[in-house]
Amino acid sequence: MARKNEPSFRESVDLMFNRAAALMDLPPGLEEKIRVCNATYTVRFGVRLRGHIHTFIGYRSVHSEHMEPVKGGIRYAMSVNQDEVEALAALMTYKCALVEAPFGGSKGGLCIDPRQYEEHELEQITRRFAYELAKRDLINPSQNVPAPDMGTSEREMAWIADQYARMNTTDINARACVTGKPLNAGGIAGRVEATGRGVQYALREFFRDSKAVAKSGLAGQLEGKRVIVQGLGNVGYHAAKFLSEEDGSLITGIIERDGALISKDGLDVDGVRNWIVKHGGVTGYPDGTFVAEGSKVLEEPCDILIPAAMEGVIHLGNADNIKAPLIIEAANGPITAGADEVLRNKGIVIIPDMYANAGGVTVSYFEWVKNLSHIRFGRMQRRAEEARTQMLVNELERLSADKELGWTLSPGFKQNYLRGADELELVRSGLDDTMRAAYQSMAAIWHERADAVDLRTAAYLVSIDRVAKSYRAKGL
Ligand code: GLU
Repeated sequence: MARKNEPSFRESVDLMFNRAAALMDLPPGLEEKIRVCNATYTVRFGVRLRGHIHTFIGYRSVHSEHMEPVKGGIRYAMSVNQDEVEALAALMTYKCALVEAPFGGSKGGLCIDPRQYEEHELEQITRRFAYELAKRDLINPSQNVPAPDMGTSEREMAWIADQYARMNTTDINARACVTGKPLNAGGIAGRVEATGRGVQYALREFFRDSKAVAKSGLAGQLEGKRVIVQGLGNVGYHAAKFLSEEDGSLITGIIERDGALISKDGLDVDGVRNWIVKHGGVTGYPDGTFVAEGSKVLEEPCDILIPAAMEGVIHLGNADNIKAPLIIEAANGPITAGADEVLRNKGIVIIPDMYANAGGVTVSYFEWVKNLSHIRFGRMQRRAEEARTQMLVNELERLSADKELGWTLSPGFKQNYLRGADELELVRSGLDDTMRAAYQSMAAIWHERADAVDLRTAAYLVSIDRVAKSYRAKGL
């Protein structure tokens, strides 16, 4: 939602785009063509629930079709509106271009508080929404491929995929109409945690870049860094979990809807997550200190701030109080254009959303390719992998036969391991590779061009240039 005296989310994205475009030599017409959103479809549909007809309002916005299909999640939240989906669709265009996922940008949303509905009601609502979009080709494997976003998960994607398949019984590629599906419905290993994993890989790559680390005023590695994360949803949870478990970072603050927790010794991410699942919030969590005004914790001193909840949380009202020298935008648009300027002037380094949270769409791309190829992903690499895996399984079998160790190998393990390991391995290495390459393309400009003063401008320069090239190559 736009705050007083600040531009709307979409205007904010446009302002950031304009800053970068001003440094380029694009014909004005082309610049405008790239910036504007092509079309936004609004649908109002009724669903009979609990004996009454409820009317829902939903959107699917297509920002740029320089590549097809267009790609982007579907959000379920009360705050969804046309301005928001258009901003998010634009960010998808730039994000896909930056990580070279061959898609245009799109985004959808349904104005709904999913917590107010039973599962079977959400299924009815989702299927109806999917029907409305699919009949206009706004869900379609070759034209528009949604994915999860805030308030949706693999459960909703499975319903959407099934709805599309029912409407298109002869489409052999029906499964590729949506990504982020459960594994047993055509999904891919590692998609659920992909965005959080991408945040981790982005930070690792940032810390490999000594010039960048120096620009932030930090030093050393991720180990021991104090991290505050806002939002322990799918993205924030996985990012915080991987950073604390695998990189030795300390999660010194977790901000949620009902308040925040802080602890200088670091919080147990899984402990907090389980508490939230059980109690609906962080209130009452036994470790750490509870802060009722959660958003104030954004202003606490720390090394890395990870806004992973929603847009516009760092704005003109609090930007000046932010103390973290490094912010990584796990959410889309968490910093308004005005706040971006304040933070830049303070010398704070921002790893921008279009790069930081691109892990999700990157693995979505792998899933889409897997669905279209109709072959178990990783099959080609299987032989070499199999030999390595077989050795590991043999070793585990030997150990499980050792009575003194007192454990046994579960019967399905060997089979599952042989079947699953290659795909996850492939997804992770593909994601790591993508995050490294995209970082390099963005950082090269940031370090080399005096006028590209921040990473966001550098990221826009890379993306806009790629989109412009594709328009030039194929025409409008
Ligand atoms: N909703 C995610 C995003 O904002 C994923 C999009 C996708 O996988 O298509 O990037």
